[in-house]
Amino acid sequence: MSILVFAESQNNKFKKSTFEAISYAKDLATLLDLECIVTCPAETENLEILSQYGADKIITHQSDELRIFTPTRYAEMIYKTAAAHTCKHVIISQTYAGKAIAPIVAAKLNYAIVTGIIDFPTQEEELVVTKTVFSNKAYAKVHLPKENLVMTIVPNSYELKQQKGQGSIVNHTFTSSSHVLTKSIEIMKSKGKVPLTEAEIVVSAGRGLKGAENWSMIEELADLLGAATACSKPVSDMEWRPHSEHVGQTGITIKPDLYIAIGISGAIQHLAGVGSSKNIVVINTDKEAPFFKAADYGIVGDAFEVVPKMIEALKNSQS
Ligand SMILES: Cc1cc2nc3c(=O)[nH]c(=O)nc-3n(C[C@H](O)[C@H](O)[C@H](O)COP(=O)(O)OP(=O)(O)OC[C@H]3O[C@@H](n4cnc5c(N)ncnc54)[C@H](O)[C@@H]3O)c2cc1C
Repeated sequence: MSILVFAESQNNKFKKSTFEAISYAKDLATLLDLECIVTCPAETENLEILSQYGADKIITHQSDELRIFTPTRYAEMIYKTAAAHTCKHVIISQTYAGKAIAPIVAAKLNYAIVTGIIDFPTQEEELVVTKTVFSNKAYAKVHLPKENLVMTIVPNSYELKQQKGQGSIVNHTFTSSSHVLTKSIEIMKSKGKVPLTEAEIVVSAGRGLKGAENWSMIEELADLLGAATACSKPVSDMEWRPHSEHVGQTGITIKPDLYIAIGISGAIQHLAGVGSSKNIVVINTDKEAPFFKAADYGIVGDAFEVVPKMIEALKNSQS
């Protein structure tokens, strides 16, 4: 008996959220005395790394049909693997791809599905997890069935855990028997930007920046640091920045090594999405701003003076 994890990749490289999902699955497999199996297309680079996060076995699938991501095909790869290996649980990261695949996998296997999981099960009489509900506006505690379950884990909600061990790699040939209703012909990627959920450094700004026209200094600082940019909810609501940058309870959850918050008050709903960052630097004119309580380093100062000085210092250090 086993738990199956889907290992998602981008440009044939595994995503950080994949390692989190495997770390989660390995801990659950240990708790339930199950094997942790990981599956993905065969083309993905560096398959061995999956063992470092807890894969006991890696099942890859060779197929031209898996070259471009198509939800029905990827779901088929997963549910066929789950059925062939009598997997009690299937774990998928709650990324854009994961959200498209997971319901198909659950329906085809006739499994229950629990989406938006943000913590590891507590073990009382039954396993209980916390999941987001109502577009992340609230949380619910859910009892998990003992088997026949698909779980989606919110990226950046579980610690990466390195393991010792060498999982075996088994390669299969995959031929789809599903009727594909939609087909991806081309994938156009945004250029030069670090994806927010993958970024190790994030430069984020809030309403303190006064207007969309002032974001050039935020982007320049982010470029110099190799960082992604993010923003508070009101900023994306006012369309100063795209909604894809909105972090917090109703936005994206992130856990970078360094989060620089500029002109953001630090409301509880904002902290819900960024509070687990390893190091938090806050720049705010108001020394009473709640964000300073969550900060590792704080600068009480005007963003329009502090940020240009940071940019200048970084340029000097890099020249
Ligand atoms: C159900 C619900 C869900 C929500 N979800 C989210 C969410 O996911 N994410 C989110 O961010 N918010 C969310 N909010 C909104 C949240 O409560 C706050 O209103 C919001 O985070 C405030 O954004 P802000 O800090 O950018 O703006 P403000 O609260 O207006 O704070 C601006 C800050 O900038 C400082 N400042 C002003 N001028 C300068 C300057 N020149 N230099 C430096 N600092 C300056 C000010 O001192 C202040 O602290 C949610 C609210 C609700 C009710």
